[in-house]
Amino acid sequence: MSILPILRWPDERLQSTCAPVTGDVRQLAEDMLETMYAAPGRGLAAPQVGVMQRLFVMDETWKEGTPAPMVFVNPEIVAQSDDTVTQPEGCLSIPGVLVDVTRPSAVTLRWKSLSGVIQEERFNGFAAACVQHELDHLNGLVTFDRIEAEARAQALAEYTA
Ligand code: ZN
Repeated sequence: MSILPILRWPDERLQSTCAPVTGDVRQLAEDMLETMYAAPGRGLAAPQVGVMQRLFVMDETWKEGTPAPMVFVNPEIVAQSDDTVTQPEGCLSIPGVLVDVTRPSAVTLRWKSLSGVIQEERFNGFAAACVQHELDHLNGLVTFDRIEAEARAQALAEYTA
């Protein structure tokens, strides 16, 4: 296993759409989990380590002492709640800046496991925001792209300061 360098926004790879995973990404997924834990973070998408493929990892509970690593290959949102929630989100590629992002409060995600089995699960709370945040990365979007112009200008000023 190895810890991979994490790209910082505005690296253009963080503003590009990723291609579907077609090959074996077990090693990459292991490296991404190790990189995420070391950062430390709760989610990491492949483009954040320069790999332009539709894959992200998440562990929403390890910081509370119960590791639950998850790997999402070719994820897609198949349903989302009508109600939204606004929560502060950090990003390993935008260190030091928290941005209030409004998103559906629950989403149903479909993805493939590392062994190619189709999975589907509904996420609520922090996990719902996390999977949407990581999925955004696969489409070249970051938190800055999810907020109004005024808030974006303020967040950018904070980031570059
Ligand atoms: Zn991020």
